[in-house]
Amino acid sequence: MAWLGIFIILLLAFVVAWWSTRSRPKCPECGSQKIRITGKEPQDFRTVDYHSGGPGGGYTSVQTSYKVTYRCGQCHASWQKTITESR
Ligand SMILES: [Zn+2]
Repeated sequence: MAWLGIFIILLLAFVVAWWSTRSRPKCPECGSQKIRITGKEPQDFRTVDYHSGGPGGGYTSVQTSYKVTYRCGQCHASWQKTITESR
């Protein structure tokens, strides 16, 4: 059953490769990952209330959306993306 181990290793390698390309932003022009963030300005924020009932129950989550400006170190293209962070 050695082939099963090889298959699992290949599958894991594929998942890791897929995850690393997915989580890291890429340049939409040339696909380079040599990019940097040149600006990050908050757009708006909203609060989400979670009620669990009763006094003192529940909590409030704040979601802030930012307009992030990226610049490519390869082809110098720049683009913007809106991201939402909750805390
Ligand atoms: Zn580029």
